[in-house]
Amino acid sequence: MISRLSILLMTLLAFLIGLSTDAQAFSVDQVRFGAHSEKTRMVLDLSENKDFRVFALDSPYRLVIDLPSFDWKAGSVERPKNSNILAVRHGNLKPGISRLVFDLNQPIALQAAFLLPHQKSAGKPDRLVIDFAPTSASAFLKNKNKILGTLSVDDSKAGKVRVNPAANNNAATTAPQRNIKPMIVIDPGHGGVDPGAVGANKVYEKHVVLALAKELQKQLISTGKYRVLLTREKDVFIKLRNRVAFARKHDADLFVSIHADSIEKSNVRGASFYTLSEKASDGQTAKLAARENRADLIAGIDLSHEDDEVANILVDLAMRDTTNQGKYFANKVVDAFRGNGIKVLQNAHRHAGFAVLKAPDIPSILVEAGFMSNKSEAQQLNTSAYRKKLAGALRKGINAYFDQVEKNQR
Ligand SMILES: [Zn+2]
Repeated sequence: MISRLSILLMTLLAFLIGLSTDAQAFSVDQVRFGAHSEKTRMVLDLSENKDFRVFALDSPYRLVIDLPSFDWKAGSVERPKNSNILAVRHGNLKPGISRLVFDLNQPIALQAAFLLPHQKSAGKPDRLVIDFAPTSASAFLKNKNKILGTLSVDDSKAGKVRVNPAANNNAATTAPQRNIKPMIVIDPGHGGVDPGAVGANKVYEKHVVLALAKELQKQLISTGKYRVLLTREKDVFIKLRNRVAFARKHDADLFVSIHADSIEKSNVRGASFYTLSEKASDGQTAKLAARENRADLIAGIDLSHEDDEVANILVDLAMRDTTNQGKYFANKVVDAFRGNGIKVLQNAHRHAGFAVLKAPDIPSILVEAGFMSNKSEAQQLNTSAYRKKLAGALRKGINAYFDQVEKNQR
């Protein structure tokens, strides 16, 4: 049994190594400008030609390019002299899609956008070419719904982009702007037959984390900015994979799993934050992930689905972008905890192979709110006053994360 598993793991490892060296990530390698009297020609050198879409926005004036998630290798863009470009920004729009934004000091008319294949003989890479020219504000308004390119950005999701809806009365046709609040799924760990860690005075992790999740839900909803759902609202058992499936079914923008750990050293206390990775950041975190992943086993669930797990890991690898967003979010939460004077572990952001963080398309973190094995911390976690404080810090981190997401989309 063990040898079968280790053979499987070695095969997987070999495959992953092969994958990481062969598969080149899609990248934007350079941004250049051509000098023409009647127009500006912008050329993006790409690692390969992919679907794109280009459009212009106002309030303020911007040129926007959406592409499949890219690595930015173009450094800082050298803007042409006397150009109408004020600044260049890029970032994640949503899982799988990146956005490049050029801030402009005047309205423009998009004339053309097309892909050119690489020319080996001329030493030229794959390119995206965009031609545009200054125009009047009134002419801009007439053409503002024009989108060049064929990239599909699943606008039911992209509708979550909240770009000053007041400035965009024609929102129905300019798909990127609709006003849907982000969906946050909070996952109180354990439940039912699986109590999680049991602290001093028989305080159960499953009860404490449910109470904390409900407090966080309340605080997030009161901001008026989010929709919030819990994977469980009662003391029931839910399989790890079903927690992930719940988040995906509800099209979550963020997944936060809440726990309260227990370790041998009873003097250790403080919160810590975990994101997904193939390799654990340290031995302690590897053990923690193993403990949390045992939840299904404790409840007597059949775990003969190794093949599914392997498939999951491969999907994860393709979705690095999601993992990066999760890491960014975790760091925002660590800052918020420190800012609110709540004790966090050294190296408060760690990573390992947590099964519950494996939604390939949703930035996910696991929060260990504190240690049930520390008598005073377990007691604190059992009070609503301390849970309010913890939830307040989580809310602050979540606000900071979505503020940045929104900035990237502008
Ligand atoms: Zn737990």
